[in-house]
Amino acid sequence: MGATRGGGFRLVLLGAPGVGKGTQAAEITRRLGLPHVSTGDLLRAAIRDGSPLGPKVAAIVDRGELVPDDLVGEVMAERLSRPDAAGGFLLDGFPRTTAQADQLDRLLAERGQALDRVISIEVPEPESARCGAVYHVRYGRPRVEGVCDRCGGELRQRSDDTEPVIRERLRAYRERTAPLVARYQRAGLLLAVDGRGRPDEVFARIAAGIPGLGSRA
Ligand code: AMP
Repeated sequence: MGATRGGGFRLVLLGAPGVGKGTQAAEITRRLGLPHVSTGDLLRAAIRDGSPLGPKVAAIVDRGELVPDDLVGEVMAERLSRPDAAGGFLLDGFPRTTAQADQLDRLLAERGQALDRVISIEVPEPESARCGAVYHVRYGRPRVEGVCDRCGGELRQRSDDTEPVIRERLRAYRERTAPLVARYQRAGLLLAVDGRGRPDEVFARIAAGIPGLGSRA
């Protein structure tokens, strides 16, 4: 793994919308001391900060469609060139297409780096929208405000968490992102984990496949 090459871990987290990627990403990065690089967060920040591309990007995100690869690639190249990413990172929400996976391979090759693991959080299709604000939309109000009844995860409402948009995000995942699982499997990088159950149970499955992760509090 990366640690043996003198750097930190370079990880990618894949999973359909609503599987709890953000929650797992936060725990993994906290324990390993890695930057949590979320393209969704970077794009939302670009929209908030009034970047010239903001309105165009906001419209795409609000429809649940994917932002064009070249634009996301630029955002990611800039983010990975910052000093805090030199020693490793966890990518949450990137790559989402084959073209983005190619971009990532190129970016890493330019730096003489490689990925250590690609974690795929997998749930059967009907479960994949089980928590997050998706829960509100599909299953009504939770027993405890702000907490998902099923998984205990945090509930948040985002402008792209409405029923038709969620359907579009799931479709984008199925058609454009899911094929990456096979690509990383072939590359010998895939760690596929069962995403059903509580967040701590899912985390334990991830930790079992990443040396050193479970032992760091
Ligand atoms: P997320 O926070 O990862 O769910 O991303 C929210 C939205 O941002 C997605 O539905 C897309 O519209 C956009 N987005 C995030 N990451 C990417 C990416 N790698 N490629 C294209 N669009 C993205």
